[in-house]
Amino acid sequence: MTDTLFTKIIDREIPADIVYEDEQCLAFRDINPKAPMHILVIPKKCIAKLTEAKQNDEPLLGHLMTVASVVASKEGYGDAFRLVVNNGAAVGQSVFHLHLHILGGRDFMWPPG
Ligand code: AMP
Repeated sequence: MTDTLFTKIIDREIPADIVYEDEQCLAFRDINPKAPMHILVIPKKCIAKLTEAKQNDEPLLGHLMTVASVVASKEGYGDAFRLVVNNGAAVGQSVFHLHLHILGGRDFMWPPG
């Protein structure tokens, strides 16, 4: 897979407001937040989108979810946050490096639009 904007953030080639990092993933504030808390959790491994994840990526995918929960709690939104994964341009994916959106701090519609 080719490098993306998010690879450059992992490599510190472009700046980001990083709130969490470990050997497997990185979390940073979305540059165009859609909620008072809007953080992206990305794997350091380049996976373009969820449907390109393989069975052996399951521990990594689980880790991203756990990190999202920890980050939301640290931000003060542990009781109420939403995770979103856009898979494919047709549903709004614009950066083709898998990422979880963590959103919180406002009311959310259900079902989502
Ligand atoms: P998606 O549309 O699901 O692919 O989400 C991509 C997200 O990346 C959008 O919410 C963008 O606002 C966000 N984004 C794009 N560039 C940056 C950047 N340089 N730093 C932080 N977030 C970014």
